[in-house]
Amino acid sequence: MASKVRLYVDHPLGEGQSVPLSRDQAHYLFGVMRLAEGTRLSLINGRDGEWDAAVAKAGKKGGILQCLQQTAPLQMPPDLWLMFAPIRKERTAFIVEKAVEMGVARVCPVQTDYTQSANRIRQDKLQAHAVEAAEQCGGTFVPPVDDLAKLDSMLADWPADRQLMFCDEVLIGDPVGLPDIDGPWAILIGPEGGFSPAERDQLRGLSFAHPVSLGPRILRADTAAVAALTVWQQALGDWA
Ligand code: SAH
Repeated sequence: MASKVRLYVDHPLGEGQSVPLSRDQAHYLFGVMRLAEGTRLSLINGRDGEWDAAVAKAGKKGGILQCLQQTAPLQMPPDLWLMFAPIRKERTAFIVEKAVEMGVARVCPVQTDYTQSANRIRQDKLQAHAVEAAEQCGGTFVPPVDDLAKLDSMLADWPADRQLMFCDEVLIGDPVGLPDIDGPWAILIGPEGGFSPAERDQLRGLSFAHPVSLGPRILRADTAAVAALTVWQQALGDWA
């Protein structure tokens, strides 16, 4: 038997709730996945947990799903932001996908001194990747993906109590050095060119920023994002 479809809908989920489908969703469920009336599927909306649902009406341009019962409560990730400098399109999409699988509360693309201006992001596309990743990994929460923000401005406007895991390539080969501090955190990953000396100076002067090493080799930014998330989740997050 084919595995059960898991679909994100931007609609409240609750017992007996009918969920109308958009044209695209109907095309996907009935055209691509070939679901028939009565077929069961799982729904998430990022707020109400996971629900078992059945196809009540299947049409070419629309349809209706009926919520039956909750199968999992909303499970929030730790209060962790992933800040990273956009790289090439597919690799940026990879970072967003992996961030959702690894468990983050927010994804923040940041412009740093050495971020290539050609690496533009499409926030809506990245948000759609986050939704797909949540559907696929069994998650019930979809982290918001921000528009590109300047690293400077984010640091200037930094929330009290949030720690920053500053992944600094000059510490290559040092012990990781992640301090054992509970509470909200953010991870910061630089672009292919790394951080500028000015950025490094600025970051080193901030009491909430903790420079961290990711081992004895230089990792590509996309690898570094996954490695940093692993280290953080293992030490301070919901893997422990
Ligand atoms: N061009 C730089 C490397 C940039 S790697 C150089 O040659 O030094 C891209 C980003 O990944 C870095 O800015 C950093 O945030 C992270 N990173 C990669 N390897 C790392 C390591 N061994 N330790 C800490 N951070 C690392």
